[in-house]
Amino acid sequence: MKPAASPIISRLISITGLVQGVGFRPFIYKLAHHHKIYGHVANNLQGVTIHAEGTHHQITSFIADIRQQAPPAAAIDTIGIEPASVGQFIAFEILRSSDNSSGITEVSPDIAVCDDCLHDMKHQPHRLDYPFTNCTNCGPRFSIIGNLPYDREKTAMQPFEMCQQCRSEYTDMLNRRFHAQPVACNHCGPEYQLIENGNCVTGIENILRRTASLVEQGKIVAVKGIGGFHLMCDATIETAVANLRQRKLREGKPFAVMFSGLDSLSQYDDLSEAEEQWISSWQRPIVLLRTKLNLGPSVTNGFSHLGVMLPYMPIHHQLFEMLQTPAVVLTSGNLSDEPIILDNDIAISRLKTIADAFLVYNRDIINRTDDSVGLVVRNKPMLLRRSRGFAPTPIRTNLNTDNLLATGAELVNCFAVGKGKLAIMSQHIGDLKNFETNEFFEETITKFQKLFRVKPEAVAVDMHPDYLSTRYGKSLGIQVVEVQHHHAHIASCMAEHKLDEPVIGISMDGTGYGDDGNIWGGEFLVCDLKDYRRFNHFSYVPMPGGDLVTKAPWRTALSYLMAAFGHDIDLSGFSFLKNIASAEIELVREAIIKNINAPLSSSCGRLFDAVSALIGACTHAGFHAEAPMRLQDLVQEDISESYPCINEKIIDFSPMIHAIVDDIKNETPAGIIAARFHNTVVEAIVQTAVQLRRQSNLQKVVLSGGSFQNEILLDRSIEKLQAQGFEVFWHQLIPANDGGIALGQLAIAAKRLRG
Ligand SMILES: [Zn+2]
Ligand SMILES: [Zn+2]
Ligand SMILES: [Zn+2]
Repeated sequence: MKPAASPIISRLISITGLVQGVGFRPFIYKLAHHHKIYGHVANNLQGVTIHAEGTHHQITSFIADIRQQAPPAAAIDTIGIEPASVGQFIAFEILRSSDNSSGITEVSPDIAVCDDCLHDMKHQPHRLDYPFTNCTNCGPRFSIIGNLPYDREKTAMQPFEMCQQCRSEYTDMLNRRFHAQPVACNHCGPEYQLIENGNCVTGIENILRRTASLVEQGKIVAVKGIGGFHLMCDATIETAVANLRQRKLREGKPFAVMFSGLDSLSQYDDLSEAEEQWISSWQRPIVLLRTKLNLGPSVTNGFSHLGVMLPYMPIHHQLFEMLQTPAVVLTSGNLSDEPIILDNDIAISRLKTIADAFLVYNRDIINRTDDSVGLVVRNKPMLLRRSRGFAPTPIRTNLNTDNLLATGAELVNCFAVGKGKLAIMSQHIGDLKNFETNEFFEETITKFQKLFRVKPEAVAVDMHPDYLSTRYGKSLGIQVVEVQHHHAHIASCMAEHKLDEPVIGISMDGTGYGDDGNIWGGEFLVCDLKDYRRFNHFSYVPMPGGDLVTKAPWRTALSYLMAAFGHDIDLSGFSFLKNIASAEIELVREAIIKNINAPLSSSCGRLFDAVSALIGACTHAGFHAEAPMRLQDLVQEDISESYPCINEKIIDFSPMIHAIVDDIKNETPAGIIAARFHNTVVEAIVQTAVQLRRQSNLQKVVLSGGSFQNEILLDRSIEKLQAQGFEVFWHQLIPANDGGIALGQLAIAAKRLRG
């Protein structure tokens, strides 16, 4: 007897997540052919639907492969499967998009050029050396999108009419460029130009050769990137880097460096597997590596961490093919705190005192995105700046965030909008006190409302009455939800981990407005997504000069000394004050005693500032958080002991300050003092968590706030808390600093307003 043929079954498969603009439908089309599935695939408002017919076995393996082989930039959220009636399909087709103009489709972030495209640039006649080669798996996305649905005429590609060849690829369902909106070639796409002293070099080969030669001569070239301009020079030529540092008036921040590839980087440094994976991921973030590299003092400026990235645009790869050097400095093309420059003419006029030449192209950048920055902690990535490659990928929550806006903090701003249960965080915006950045903030909020079809019904803002983000939110004339800064930090980490329950929240932070009017920042909360109770905190210490102390850590050190030893402490023996005029010191002492512009602060960041100044690591900070970074850098890692501190109603570090002063007198090496100090803060965190557990019975500890960017503090806190049996949550893809708080504000507003 012949075995019966397997019956044909029919299934409706609904896929949600980031599945549009990332080559998903061509992928499904090819997979269906492979498994001999009949039916069709179409985009819709929620994602992609597939009508699939085949044997039970064919359908099962088809669905398994959807998950396993999805394109790199796709992020499948859910796959729903329903039975359907068997139809009359004779093939598998991609259906045209229905009109989805009122719905949301997710916007893909920009994707680093893929290996297939790099291969095409060597082999396809119409794409030989073409520096804008891309496909459905790679290329610009968010940076060129003006509106949805994601079609070419709504992107910066609109002025470029496809040639015959590109059009045939674009319309061929089996082609890797099927519906790749930025598809282009040498005949029809955007072009580069090199502008040097008013002269213009054209032709990609001439441009590459001239640019490489300038870089090798130690010149500085402004290069238009995916989301804004970069300034580039050879990282191995010390005079070039020093020159860049001087021309950019860039205080002391280490420069980011791009290596030609993983091979050349590995020759300089040992990367962990997790670091290797992250640095070569399609998002291509800058990854901070604790480096053995010696690229010349002006690159790192004394820091042991170096921000490293790999090429992500075709032009980066092409330049490295011409260059002898394994690495170039690639820093953002802007002046001090301004946003990175997008526009060719503005770049040429504003960066003329910095750059010797300008490598530009004739396609507009619609959405500015800085390079993202992160590091690896406990084998997991941790983002410090979430921008190119990550924004505007939504964060999935279990909360109704629909039509809510959260305006974020002020110094490191990112905002967020809610759509359904999604939280869509903006790219890195920056310091709103800068006029241009504030404009960028307001115009990006408007863009996001249009792009994602959000109409804010309520706005969540920081409690700080003077934050420009708060003022903006309050000016909108809609319902306002005020959120305490550190509650927002903890809620952002909770939302990242989909926690919606009471937790122990530990926020180690720089500055945030407290509900008692003081400046908070070393905070222990019991909280959920609605409310918080402040259980304990670092003791209050006056900050003479207010915000000024962040630039002058010696002032905070003086304040801690006076708190520990009394107001009339003899300061003559302290070497960290030796370069500061005694009249100025006495003025600050006076301000503390008489409480003149000396607000109280429980900040963890300021405690780090104080100790950093006290041991002479950093008395005057040239850039944000320099003092804590210098202190962390000194830590001698094998030191496990700590200093005493009082941990009762509040956490008082006076005994530690006494012990540090003794250590300084005894000429204990700074690395040992720095290590003992870090361990003391970790001890305070763990002890307080244990006390909190006793009172609340809570087991889950959530860590957030800018000080947890400190790898040693974070790593040791996690280890010790876990050893005490806590379940510990920390940030991975949302920054622990103020760039993450908009997510927390959004979550709290959703919970308070909608339960
Ligand atoms: Zn590609
Ligand atoms: Zn073409
Ligand atoms: Zn903060």
